[in-house]
Amino acid sequence: MTAALCEVGIGMTSQRTRERLVQRLVEAGISHSGVLEAMRSLPRHLFVDEALASRAYEDSSLPIGHGQTISQPYIVARMTEALLAGGPRDTVLEIGTGSGFQTAVLASLVRRVYSVERVADLYEKAERRLRGLKLRNVRLRHGDGHLGWSDYAPFDGILVTAAPEGVPRGLVAQLAPGGCMVLPVGRNEQQALVRVTRTESGYEHELIEPVVFVPLLGGTA
Ligand code: SAH
Repeated sequence: MTAALCEVGIGMTSQRTRERLVQRLVEAGISHSGVLEAMRSLPRHLFVDEALASRAYEDSSLPIGHGQTISQPYIVARMTEALLAGGPRDTVLEIGTGSGFQTAVLASLVRRVYSVERVADLYEKAERRLRGLKLRNVRLRHGDGHLGWSDYAPFDGILVTAAPEGVPRGLVAQLAPGGCMVLPVGRNEQQALVRVTRTESGYEHELIEPVVFVPLLGGTA
């Protein structure tokens, strides 16, 4: 087979497998059309090691090095949907860039995305990938996400992709009024996905569903 034919073959397979993944997300209860479109069109295989590319459209998390994982597509879709449920969001802060896949999903749905990653190597790789995809409404930073990103605060939405033991005060303080934060909270097997909304008088908490995430760690690496 020539290289060109080979590429066409891979392209067709991945379009079919992507469609299957979207179908699975719909069956699992994801209904936001923009989120489903982002999951259909984004090349998740470019966010994992070549050796894992053939598994990129399975609904599972995969290792990305440094003991970290690219989140399961269902979880990415669920968190994004929960973040956008109250209407469109202008600026969103993500904590835990990892592979940059969730960042890319957000970038296709909101005006500007800011994302912080504590592991330098992951930050650099994500920066290259997102630049390669020509996503220009994204700004990444290497740092400790507990501090948020005060230069660009307040944010209409904050999405945290690693689990703290409690809701980090420094982060909720960077929410705009009416803004919400979606994050996993808790230890080990006892985590829940939570949405915290900033209201005129304080904060409202809603429980979404049980989840398993890597822990939110302190400092940088
Ligand atoms: N959204 C990513 C998820 C990666 S896993 C993806 O789908 O690829 C969680 C990420 O959070 C890891 O990359 C980890 O290094 C990062 N992380 C953990 N604690 C952090 C902190 N305090 N600040 C910033 N990033 C953190």
